[in-house]
Amino acid sequence: MANYYNENTIIYLDGKFVKAAESKIDLYNQSLHYGYAVFEGIRSYKTVDGTTKIFKAAEHYHRLKNSANALHIPYHFDSEVLIEATYEVLKQNNLQDAYIRTIVYGPSNMSYDINEESHIAILVWQMGAFLGHNLLRIAVSPFQRPNPKGFIITAKACGHYVNSMMASNEAKSRGFNEALLTDMNGYVAEGPGANVFFEMDGKLITPSLGNILPGITRATIFEICKDLGITVEEKFFTKEEIYGVDAAFFCGTAAEVIGWESLDGIAFKKDWNDTLSKKVQSAYKALIVANK
Ligand code: PMP
Repeated sequence: MANYYNENTIIYLDGKFVKAAESKIDLYNQSLHYGYAVFEGIRSYKTVDGTTKIFKAAEHYHRLKNSANALHIPYHFDSEVLIEATYEVLKQNNLQDAYIRTIVYGPSNMSYDINEESHIAILVWQMGAFLGHNLLRIAVSPFQRPNPKGFIITAKACGHYVNSMMASNEAKSRGFNEALLTDMNGYVAEGPGANVFFEMDGKLITPSLGNILPGITRATIFEICKDLGITVEEKFFTKEEIYGVDAAFFCGTAAEVIGWESLDGIAFKKDWNDTLSKKVQSAYKALIVANK
């Protein structure tokens, strides 16, 4: 088990800075039983001038609010206050390159009824490369992403991650590094915790929105590609259409930009170092630590 905290670790809980080791959640908590909670995964970086920057902080807290609203989870928190609190938690824990988990969860309630109150916690811990540094061997999962007719897939809801865990562990049990999930129509969708891009014919393609989490990193990749003059096409496509194309990568806050070696054992054609995808990866690495 990873060591997320020790007896000195400070978290933000419902407006207060308190010790992680002394914070509790009770066993009658509605979010624990039903996965009915929303969260954000955010990263902070030590920038080139030595200061700490929470990357895309406003975007993450905006999505947290939208996720809560989508699920009718009470949300009376102010993004600016939360961003300030997040910087303070980082400072109190002496962290710059960190992963930040902000979660909004319900009170004790064993019914399905909507609550009047909710809790918020901000947790931080040190994190390096989430999916390692090597090119990944990916497998198409037998698990599909949750059907948007059964879930609000644009919300980053805790319960959705049972699906992510099933897919990820199934792929790992077959010796792959990670899974690629399809949507309910069988089209390529996303990874368990990252969006996906493919490179072919001098451009990038990525699944259209609708059946995937609209990633903040995905949106950043669009900005980077615009700056670099790289065309990105959004469309629905099958795994057969992207087997053996030039290159592929996952992108996400935790995953950052990480290239793939193969999909279902079929290698991508180009040397990673010769791809547009690698240029996008380098631009992303520069952006996260840029002094702005
Ligand atoms: N898809 C899923 C299922 C995810 O969990 C994540 C991580 N939040 C992403 C995509 C990427 O989103 P982001 O770039 O906003 O981290």
